[in-house]
Amino acid sequence: MAESVDLPSRLAILPFRNKVLLPGAIIRIRCTSPSSVKLVEQELWQREEKGLIGILPVRDSAEIATSGTAVSSGVGGESAERGLKNQAGISENHKLDSKNQQEVIHWHDRGVAARALHLSRGVEKPSGRVTYIVVLEGLCRFNVQELSTRGTYYTARITSLDMTKGEMELIEQDQEFVALSRQFKATAMELISILEQKQKTGGRTKVLLETVPVHKLADIFVASFEISFEEQLSMLDSVDVKVRLSKATELVDRHLQSIRVAEKITQKVEGQLSKSQKEFLLRQQMKAIKEELGDNDDEEDDLVALERKMQGAGMPASIWKHALRELRRLKKMQPQQPGYNSSRVYLELLADLPWEKASPELELDLKAAKERLDADHYGLLKVKQRIIEYLAVRKLKPDARGPVLCFVGPPGVGKTSLASSIAAALGRKFIRISLGGVKDEADIRGHRRTYIGSMPGRLIDGLKRVAVCNPVMLLDEIDKTGSDVRGDPASALLEVLDTEQNKTFNDHYLNVPFDLSKVIFVATANRMQPIPPPLLDRMEVIELPGYTPEEKLKIAIRHLIPRVLDQHGLSSDFLQIPEDMVKLVIQRYTREAGVRNLERNLAALARAAAVKVAEQEHLVPFSKDVQRLSSPLLDGKLAESAEVEMEVIPMGVNNHDISDAFKVASPMVVDEPMVEKVLGPPRYDDRETAERVANPGVSVGLVWTAFGGEVQFVEATAMVGKGDLHLTGQLGDVIKESAQIALTWVRARATELKLAISEETNLLEGRDIHIHFPAGAVPKDGPSAGVTLVTSLVSLFSKRRVRADTAMTGEMTLRGMVLPVGGVKDKVLAAHRYGIKRVILPERNLKDLVEVPATVLSSLEIILAKRVEDVLDQAFEGGCPWRQHSKL
Ligand code: ADP
Repeated sequence: MAESVDLPSRLAILPFRNKVLLPGAIIRIRCTSPSSVKLVEQELWQREEKGLIGILPVRDSAEIATSGTAVSSGVGGESAERGLKNQAGISENHKLDSKNQQEVIHWHDRGVAARALHLSRGVEKPSGRVTYIVVLEGLCRFNVQELSTRGTYYTARITSLDMTKGEMELIEQDQEFVALSRQFKATAMELISILEQKQKTGGRTKVLLETVPVHKLADIFVASFEISFEEQLSMLDSVDVKVRLSKATELVDRHLQSIRVAEKITQKVEGQLSKSQKEFLLRQQMKAIKEELGDNDDEEDDLVALERKMQGAGMPASIWKHALRELRRLKKMQPQQPGYNSSRVYLELLADLPWEKASPELELDLKAAKERLDADHYGLLKVKQRIIEYLAVRKLKPDARGPVLCFVGPPGVGKTSLASSIAAALGRKFIRISLGGVKDEADIRGHRRTYIGSMPGRLIDGLKRVAVCNPVMLLDEIDKTGSDVRGDPASALLEVLDTEQNKTFNDHYLNVPFDLSKVIFVATANRMQPIPPPLLDRMEVIELPGYTPEEKLKIAIRHLIPRVLDQHGLSSDFLQIPEDMVKLVIQRYTREAGVRNLERNLAALARAAAVKVAEQEHLVPFSKDVQRLSSPLLDGKLAESAEVEMEVIPMGVNNHDISDAFKVASPMVVDEPMVEKVLGPPRYDDRETAERVANPGVSVGLVWTAFGGEVQFVEATAMVGKGDLHLTGQLGDVIKESAQIALTWVRARATELKLAISEETNLLEGRDIHIHFPAGAVPKDGPSAGVTLVTSLVSLFSKRRVRADTAMTGEMTLRGMVLPVGGVKDKVLAAHRYGIKRVILPERNLKDLVEVPATVLSSLEIILAKRVEDVLDQAFEGGCPWRQHSKL
């Protein structure tokens, strides 16, 4: 708080342009001009004690021009013309900074001494200019006697205008002063109350009223108002306290009135305006503020850009009209309005869709296409042949409406990569749309825009991403779509794949037709059965059954290993995976139909090797090629952080030399310990089947899953009970019934099978049977486990082990007939993978064996069974001796 100060007779003067500092006010200023910086430096910064400076208002010459000659006029008849320009001893032509060379300075002759409360110094980058931020407190008024310069800044000889103690005491007796004080305090009190009410602050300001002398209070109050320069000057000139008080009372009162009026208006407006009107008003204000600040109106710019993008999208005329209508609607909306965003996103989609943008149709080179297919894929001769035929038809008749190719087979057999090879051969872009788990029609066709969060379907979204209208689009896992209450995705797909209908494909979100006829569709599926017949009808199925271990080995060596090494930044100079080790990985770590896990395991080996190679790099003798960089600039840095060291490869060393430097002496060769270390203990081994059938009651079946063929063990056991049959292993109804049939058949033939002594003997007397299908967590169903179930039950009751080298499949009837089953090819391949030597198949499946690769067939003994007895005869070591006694 400003208290009485002893002013020196001379003060450094800081000019304030069109501004006044009043006693009691605290302000923060930034000094940047050379003269003010110099002043602060010398008068404040370099002094130990808190320095004092004088703040003197100056008037712009422009102001003078507009307001005529008038300089501030004092209040209460004080001298009106007190501009320093008229005073003797003060040059009219003092210059401020060099920048204002030609400017005449109009000094005011009264100022306020100020004390620096806080100083901070800054250096601007990159100019290096010094600036100061100073917090100043106005202390008391002074009169300028004479102005002169000290270096680049001004000083003034001054006299204080503060009242002495005696004068103060005298005036306090004055009735008029007392009345004026009371009036001022009352008005001030009123203002404080209103402000505190509004800002909900505590009563701190009120304390001021009681503790600070009233003539100082007047200054403090007025200093906090936004009043004109003229009014500020006249307040500064009010040296007489009575004049000052009446002036301050008037200003405080005016401020009070303006707050009241503003409040009244707000209340009135608030009452009249609805919420949306208020928002509108605020938005208009915001717009005005933005304009004032010169901010660009981003939204509007964005819309212009959007319109331009839409114009370049090449939409058909009718759609362009529709888009324009939507754009007009958008332009009328406020960005915060509901619907604005969704409308915008919609238009963005319209603008992004490839209405006419297409990859150039290249002249198809069939020979090159074949070479490419061969280069990318091992084997698959028939498949590749079919693809070439497909491409040949397209070449002869580019707009031919041929069937859609559908690759069916277990995962990892190359369905996706074949499709992408087709795209490459045609020079088209490739996009994969995953349909796995799509149950909602809206996933294909989109949601109508009326829904919150609606989106286009996967096809339109895919086209937006691929940005051309003629890509090769892979509909992946088309067999995994299902229908439920949310509609039938298959029916939407029907429209997509129908060459007549897809010209005007209607996505619900898009709401305008899009032409899909230029898209080349290819589909993949794991199985054919789940694909709805009408959809299947539109596709040409090409089956990829899975690979034999020999094929896998070739694929690994020719395709997977080079690719995996490349992906990991390695080459055969760093890592070699011998054939034996690949075989080991195939046999002990993967038992899949495809090669996906094989690729993954090879990648794991490559990763491990990459770590080793990277570690070795540190040991490479680098030093001879390396120089320490020494530059004075860096030295400083190095000194600061001693650890930083720079290594620079000299100019003369070329890339080749560098890679030579990295080259390890001899490549790392994968061996069995490394395979075990990286991939863990073997997951499968050839002894598995033998170990599992070591006890009577276990038989080896062949099943067919989405992952291709699999070997399925069936375990049966007996325990004390009441003759119940327990079944476990997530079984479906059909397989449960098969188990019931098998048990009934065995019980009915118990004596012929020498399992019971007489016809009357009940096999289940006093015992329960439990049949389990491991693995317990995988759901299983289907009738083909019939013969396997019978075999395991006969093995259980006869206490004879089944042959470990034999696997079987076949549905059985209650009378013991063996009926044909599906997926024979995959099942035979699975048996081969598991190292099984003999496979028992239903006789009527003989025709399916033509699809099995000859190499596999030659390594297996295929046994065809007509009746269950044939199966049993082959399933046990030494045949089935009881058969001769059978009356069947
Ligand atoms: P899918 O789509 O049938 O599940 P992918 O096409 O994704 O299988 O194939 C998995 C990996 O196996 C890919 O890296 C693919 O290149 C490779 N691959 C599959 N079959 C072959 C093959 N016959 N020749 C070369 N690589 C193959």
